[in-house]
Amino acid sequence: MNLTGRNIIGFETFSEGNVAIQAINPASGATLAPLYYQATIDELQYAVEKAMKAFQIFRKKSGREKAAFLEDIANEIENLGDLLIERYISESGLPQGRAIGERGRTTAQLRLFAQLLKEGSWVNARIDKALPERQPAPRPDLRSIEKPLGVVGIFGASNFPLAFSVAGGDTASALAAGCPVIFKAHPAHLGTSELVGKAIQKAAAATNMPDGVFSLLFDAGHDIGTALVQHPDIKAIGFTGSFKGGKALFNLAMNRKEPIPVYAEMGSVNPVFVLPDIAEKKYSEIAQQYLASVALGVGQFCTNPGMLVVQKNDSFVKTLEELSTDLQGGTMLTGGIFENYTKGVQQSKQYASVIGIGKKPISLNSVEPIIFKTTAIDLAANPHLGEEIFGPTSLVVEVESKEQMMTFAESLEGHLTATVHGTEKDFEEYESLLTILEQKVGRILLNGFPTGVEVSHAMVHGGPFPATTDARSTSVGTMAITRFTRPICYQNFPDNLLPDELKSSNPLNIWRLVDGNFEK
Ligand code: NAP
Repeated sequence: MNLTGRNIIGFETFSEGNVAIQAINPASGATLAPLYYQATIDELQYAVEKAMKAFQIFRKKSGREKAAFLEDIANEIENLGDLLIERYISESGLPQGRAIGERGRTTAQLRLFAQLLKEGSWVNARIDKALPERQPAPRPDLRSIEKPLGVVGIFGASNFPLAFSVAGGDTASALAAGCPVIFKAHPAHLGTSELVGKAIQKAAAATNMPDGVFSLLFDAGHDIGTALVQHPDIKAIGFTGSFKGGKALFNLAMNRKEPIPVYAEMGSVNPVFVLPDIAEKKYSEIAQQYLASVALGVGQFCTNPGMLVVQKNDSFVKTLEELSTDLQGGTMLTGGIFENYTKGVQQSKQYASVIGIGKKPISLNSVEPIIFKTTAIDLAANPHLGEEIFGPTSLVVEVESKEQMMTFAESLEGHLTATVHGTEKDFEEYESLLTILEQKVGRILLNGFPTGVEVSHAMVHGGPFPATTDARSTSVGTMAITRFTRPICYQNFPDNLLPDELKSSNPLNIWRLVDGNFEK
């Protein structure tokens, strides 16, 4: 398959624009062919018109039909073979093992949504049967389910060129919900985006999906992304990236005539608390695992543990100092991310002490892991120290007492995750810490590390602002589907006019809440 640099609009491709961008290999600085032409406003309009028409057909597709589409996308991604892996590596600087692992995560994610659709109960069917004899007033027949919102705009993340990009979790959940997708490609991986976009296009045609169910547009700056969020026919936005980018898109969406939901996952510092008893007994093991988690993937994960809070413990800090020297850095995903990391680390050096520096390879845009240390009091005086620096760095915060640890936890903003390491004795003594943290994050972990986000039914990858713009949702796992649906209630409908999910005979054999009881 040849890369063309053309925007994908339904079953067609276009490149009418004259503003071009090119992907760059972050490790060598080499530009990668071909040129990608920014979509024109007319092309965006055409994509939206097609998607609107497609919505009227796609929203009526059965769970089995949508499942076949998602499974075929997974198959087509696998059929791209080495071509996809090689392009991924050259655009991201990430190693082959990561590329293959992420492809597996992406296809498994699509297949998990397909399984959810085939099982069918996700629609949250509720039936309150009519009570015509009820006094003082009869009750009508009321039945509700989740239905798709409409056409969705999605922005991919730089740090997962497959799993959080063109066919990633946002796209999979929107398509599963029955919403056509218009995807704005991330400029860091244009070729990877085109290859996956073509896989979706092929799967859509093969599984009889409507023309316009998926489009992929390129943007050299923010023109197309901005117009996408502002387009009156777009009904929701999915985004993963920086706070600045996510908040800007959120503000655009709130200022529309019709405000729409923006599900922006903007990352966080993911504090790790190490309680005193375990810190004394297992400091060496925890230090080792913590450092490995900080350096994993050159720290470019939204769940990277960017802060560790511990009561003053010299042995723990000394172990961190010793082990840090073995940590491996690497090439950052883009020149921009490299610059942000370098700037962030320089700033931290002014206010916190460096207790460990790892190694870095000799290549362009490469960085070494750095571990900083401060105290809770100094951090309160320099709060920017607690902000996320995207990359392999973390800040150890020493507290003097249990009370100071609790006060610190209370002061935290929203994060994706919080982790607590403790023994049984610690957890008894610090139970209230868990209560505080539960109100600050989307996922709370005991005796582990937050990197490695399982794609499953119970996963929550979200959290209160500023980790996301909507704490009620997750961007990973099957619960993500309800970001792109809304409930509809049918009152006094005869059986033949009801969706299959709500018909009295339950032809799809799904779990339903009937008069307050779950039944099949
Ligand atoms: P980003 O700058 O937020 O960009 C994400 C996507 O949104 C890109 O396609 C970007 O286009 C677009 N975009 C950003 N601001 C926009 C605006 N105002 N209007 C329209 N489109 C806009 O994130 P990134 O490129 O992935 O990485 C930059 C920084 O984001 C990193 O240094 C890191 O701090 C953070 N990041 C966080 C996470 C996370 O944890 N959630 C993941 C990845 C990155 P352009 O590239 O053309 O601006």
